Amino acid sequence: MDSEDFVAKSPAHSKSSSAATKPTDTETLWLGAHLSVAGGLELAVEEAKSLRFGGLQVFTRNQRVWKTPPLTAAEIEAFRAAREDSIFAEPGRIVSHNSYLVNLASPDDTARAKSIECERTELERCEQLGIDASVAHPGAHLGSPRKPKDANNLVAEPSGDELEGLRRIAKSIDEIHKQLRGYRVRIALETTTGSGTNLGYAFRHLAIIRDLVKAPERVAFCIDTCHIVSSGYGHATAVDASATLDAFDAVCGLAHVAVMHMNDSEAPPASRRDLHAHIGHGSCGKPIFEAVMRHSKLTCVPKVLETEKGDAPSGVQWDVVNAKALAAMAKGRSAARLGAVVLCVCGALMFGGCSAQWFKRTATAKAAQPAVLRTEPTVAEEEILVAADKAMAHEDYETALRLFRDLLNDNPTLSCAYLGMGQALLAEGDPQRAETAFARAVKLTPSSFPSQYGHGEVLAALGRVGEAVDAFRRALAIRPLDLATNLALAKSYLELDQANNALIFARKSVEIDPTSAAAQIRLAEALSGVGDGAGAVSAYETAIELGDPSKELLLALVQAYGAQKRFEEAVNTAQALLAMGPDANAAERLGWARFRMGRFDEALAAYEQALVIDPDHWPSLNGVGVLKLNAWINSEKRLDAARDEARKAFQRSLQVNGDQPKVTALLIRYRLGDDPR
Ligand SMILES: [Zn+2]
Ligand SMILES: [Zn+2]
Repeated sequence: MDSEDFVAKSPAHSKSSSAATKPTDTETLWLGAHLSVAGGLELAVEEAKSLRFGGLQVFTRNQRVWKTPPLTAAEIEAFRAAREDSIFAEPGRIVSHNSYLVNLASPDDTARAKSIECERTELERCEQLGIDASVAHPGAHLGSPRKPKDANNLVAEPSGDELEGLRRIAKSIDEIHKQLRGYRVRIALETTTGSGTNLGYAFRHLAIIRDLVKAPERVAFCIDTCHIVSSGYGHATAVDASATLDAFDAVCGLAHVAVMHMNDSEAPPASRRDLHAHIGHGSCGKPIFEAVMRHSKLTCVPKVLETEKGDAPSGVQWDVVNAKALAAMAKGRSAARLGAVVLCVCGALMFGGCSAQWFKRTATAKAAQPAVLRTEPTVAEEEILVAADKAMAHEDYETALRLFRDLLNDNPTLSCAYLGMGQALLAEGDPQRAETAFARAVKLTPSSFPSQYGHGEVLAALGRVGEAVDAFRRALAIRPLDLATNLALAKSYLELDQANNALIFARKSVEIDPTSAAAQIRLAEALSGVGDGAGAVSAYETAIELGDPSKELLLALVQAYGAQKRFEEAVNTAQALLAMGPDANAAERLGWARFRMGRFDEALAAYEQALVIDPDHWPSLNGVGVLKLNAWINSEKRLDAARDEARKAFQRSLQVNGDQPKVTALLIRYRLGDDPR
């Protein structure tokens, strides 16, 4: 929370809850709000109880001043008494939020010391009050700022300034931990929007801090829905929203989340601005709230509103209205769990190796399976699936297909069988029918990674790239850190001429596996797509260092050097490529680079070499044509022989590839089609 002033507003209603009836949705879902402590800390607890909330956040002090008098025994006792015999006696339901003044990342030693002192006092107060977590903004590095319009790069390595800031935060936390040995309260680092030089806008910032501190078990996290949307994380569709939570899980671990801040955002997504709005009244959209409310790992995490106080037009308090809106979004949680069960079964079929035990599953999984739509194999079916898989391993696709078909005859909703069938058909070179099989598997088990990824692959093979992108994105929502999916997505975006999007997933691929040559190549392709030729060259060079350079890779590097006007290097690389064996493309690129250097005779020799290797190599025919045309134009006597040779080369090129409007234009412009005599 950042922009609101809670202390000044509405005093707590301290009616204790009337009837101890059955728990409300807000109680069981750990929903609540940041409430005012004006008049006494215990009044916030009383108010939360009277509103039947299940979560609560407080300031234990005035958050706008450095110094605060210590808690008195009476204050501590009153707070503990208010919690006793209530839902808030349960650990974890109440959290605190630290002072806005604290900047644990400050490069100024005096300021940082003051921040450490202030944060330490806050944690001492929490420990006294029995509060288990205290939310802290990571801090601002105060180095060179980015322009407000520069979007957050959520996957890039932290910059030098950022990394130093993250190190200072970890160091500060270490110092606090040292002073507070044996404390149970944890600091909960909050995600931020990335305004100014604030750290914590990328999940990995939080992970880095936790990795750096000496006692990471004392560091937790706080996810603020408004902040992650303003920071630029996906939120608008169910797929994007769950991909965002999966990304947090993969990078930081949802198990370490101590509190959720449930705020809508008044500012647009990715704006890096922090303006909270009432739920459903901002730019976050329902899917991100649904994803949080339904996530099994966030069930027992307090979810607190930090939105404006006061009454809604209905006359009901906004906090109550917002909490109810969120509670309504929790419906449908069991369906998500079912999907996860099916995923593990089908995942095993493709990635699990050759043993029947992939299909083993827990008793609860069996219980969750409805009888009508049985997507999961019985023991007898498992045996047939294993046999089919063995046939696949021996490339006996006919037998495999027969077994899959038999299975589906008996049980037409056995998703795994469709998946296997799709694989077999793909291996047999029938992508059209493979697509149908994968589409069925996806329909039956949409939460299965192999279904979605396999479907994406086959769609891409069929040239249905837009649909492939959607499938890969769904696969990525299930496994955000899968290298093959990230690579495939980057490739598809390149095919769609969306280099900016390709770049995101190429960068992510490199991040996932910096030693993957394929990832570096994809990065190079995306970089050249966005016009970063220098970056492309260096990514290609890295790819070559990482693995056996293929001819294709060297050729791409020649191209990248050329685009950077580094012709000398282009020539050298092309020559190295030709030394590996005859290659018309390499010879043509050699000619092209020499041509650009003004070495026309050598260029012509290279083009001619290409045409020896492949007489129909039309780019080389064009090269010869241009050089001859050049010779004709520049010669004083206008050598007709050169003109004739140019004409012949161009005409031949058009015979091989008729779709070259530039060549046709050249023929017309220089009247090469006409017989001069
Ligand atoms: Zn905050
Ligand atoms: Zn917040």
